[in-house]
Amino acid sequence: MPPSPEQDHWRHWHDAARRDEVDAALRGLYEKMGEEIERLGPTCWLSGKCCRFDSYGHQLWVTALEIAWVVDRIDEGQRSVLRSSDLPGVDGCPFQVDKLCGVHAIRPLGCRNYFCDPNAQDWQNELYERFQDELRRLHTTHGIEYRYIEWRRGLDAARLHL
Ligand code: SF4
Repeated sequence: MPPSPEQDHWRHWHDAARRDEVDAALRGLYEKMGEEIERLGPTCWLSGKCCRFDSYGHQLWVTALEIAWVVDRIDEGQRSVLRSSDLPGVDGCPFQVDKLCGVHAIRPLGCRNYFCDPNAQDWQNELYERFQDELRRLHTTHGIEYRYIEWRRGLDAARLHL
């Protein structure tokens, strides 16, 4: 059976995520954002609440490229967790382990930006919008289709191509 249009889309994002120049651009963007956040100095209390979306009443939105990039870099144990998770109905992120992020080094932009520290509320929306714009431009520069998607729904779709 020929691949469906949706399968073609995910193949496109996985192929893009494996390109060296896209990998370098994404890592560079995350690093730059990390430097800004470090300067701002928010506190993370390691409550783990931010990764339990339904309980905490919020959602994580990312790009399909970011999802493909993460999924292509997780280890076999994490792949197996992803395959067996009840996505998209699960409350929290399948990569959370004992309140910590199991994919910390490769987590998407939205996870890097989010802090429940009240002192972060003044700047985090502006910072997020600015880097989301940069991420959008990264897509354009590298000829990648831009899709903004809820994390668990995106993981559910991307895992079909593991
Ligand atoms: S990727 Fe990491 S930080 Fe982001 S929601 Fe999942 S466990 Fe939390």
